[in-house]
Amino acid sequence: MESRTDCPICQDLHENCVVEKTEVDGKPFESYICFECGLTSNSYFSLDSEHLEKATENNTQLMNDLKVIDEDRGIVWFPSVINMGEKGIIYPEGVATDWYWNYAPVIDVPEDERDKYDGHDKRLAIDNPQIFGQFEFKKACQAMGVLLDDG
Ligand SMILES: [Zn+2]
Repeated sequence: MESRTDCPICQDLHENCVVEKTEVDGKPFESYICFECGLTSNSYFSLDSEHLEKATENNTQLMNDLKVIDEDRGIVWFPSVINMGEKGIIYPEGVATDWYWNYAPVIDVPEDERDKYDGHDKRLAIDNPQIFGQFEFKKACQAMGVLLDDG
């Protein structure tokens, strides 16, 4: 079941955080993604949990720098990385005091440049991403084409 709530950053501003409630191994499980600021979390990321430790190891430095501790829910939030394969990838880029959402689409590689990219005919345009502000996560998703309604 999907409903709206507020995220720890956008609290009091709007409720554009989607919470998906389900069950995992018979226990209630909630996952969150905020379409304003792009923060995400889920029940696994409870404080001091093993899942949280693993996520922290796999995250970029920036993602860990931007984490938000949600005392009310007892979980930690991180900025999202949305990897949609052929549609490209959305990720935070920069330093904690100056960062942006980047959307790198998948682009065609011209035939005469394929040598540079191991012969691939498509690649991620991480050298020339579309850039969005910290509270423009939704726009980045729309640019990617994963968010069709105005939600
Ligand atoms: Zn938010």
